[in-house]
Amino acid sequence: MVAEDVDAVLLSIGADLPYFTGYEAMDSERPTILVVRGAGPPLLVIPLLEAPRVGGGDFEVAAWAETDDPYRLIAAAVGGARRIAVGDQTRAANLLAVQSLLPGVTWERASELIARLRVLKEPEEVELLRAAAHAVDRVLARVPDEVEFSGQTEMDLAREFQAMTVEEGHDVASFAIVAGGPNGASPHHEPGDRVIQPGDLVVCDFGGRWQMYSSDVTRTFAVGPPSGRQEEVHGIVHAASQAAREAVRPGTTCEDIDRAARHVIEDAGLGEAFIHRTGHGIGLEVHEHPYMVEGNETPLEPGMTFSIEPGIYLRGSFGVRIEDIVACGADGVDELNQADRSLIVVG
Ligand code: ZN
Ligand code: ZN
Ligand code: ZN
Repeated sequence: MVAEDVDAVLLSIGADLPYFTGYEAMDSERPTILVVRGAGPPLLVIPLLEAPRVGGGDFEVAAWAETDDPYRLIAAAVGGARRIAVGDQTRAANLLAVQSLLPGVTWERASELIARLRVLKEPEEVELLRAAAHAVDRVLARVPDEVEFSGQTEMDLAREFQAMTVEEGHDVASFAIVAGGPNGASPHHEPGDRVIQPGDLVVCDFGGRWQMYSSDVTRTFAVGPPSGRQEEVHGIVHAASQAAREAVRPGTTCEDIDRAARHVIEDAGLGEAFIHRTGHGIGLEVHEHPYMVEGNETPLEPGMTFSIEPGIYLRGSFGVRIEDIVACGADGVDELNQADRSLIVVG
């Protein structure tokens, strides 16, 4: 804050607040805002009914009752601040109410300050991400024996993946994409009532939260023996994943990780079918900095954790994606997910 000449930081819903305090604000119309000032302890302005959920910490608590005006508390707490950074996910309605009481202040996104801290994981954070990754690896290892794909809907399978994610130790299953046959060509397909059939490739992308840290993994399964073309496309994605993972080391830029995967797919003539970036940072949020995308010249540093998830999406036909979480280690890649990446045939 001093270096950037920021007088106060306001943190609300989203991951920045728990990153510093261990407390995650309820996403509600009632504002919860931590006011971090240049001098004095931070002040957590919180609805009275949420205050019992707050453990101790290096901050003071100002609990507001239903008839109080929380925005006046916040405006008073920032005092004469001229430049204020605000958590990116703060609700617009809450921010607009604060802004109306503080004319003449310059506003900026808190991520410009905080992403630089959050992007470099402490060893304990990497170990939580590794534990989460190993748990979804265990789910994947159970799939060939326990999950019958053929005859089930995408939605049925998504529920099974979510149940197994919790069984393997996650606190919650956050999401599950199951995309069969032509639906696999839509990277963020919403699982529906399409029934999985022999001959389908099925893209399964799922994850959960493990002590506030996230898992996120994708494997593509073949229902019955795959066609030559399906096998070939899967092999290209597999090679792209390997090239990107092998490129991970301190000093390599984020865009170079994207290029490493993309070159393999372009060389196979399918560059136009790889319609998203190669990866995203992961930590308290499933998607956070750093992003593995053309134009991001940020050099990797030890402690950065991110996904490598190349895919090929052939509209009307099928899709393939392979996703793993990795950490940048001191001398190269530290693979947090280790599940088999080959094209696994299921029933
Ligand atoms: Zn995604
Ligand atoms: Zn994913
Ligand atoms: Zn992902």
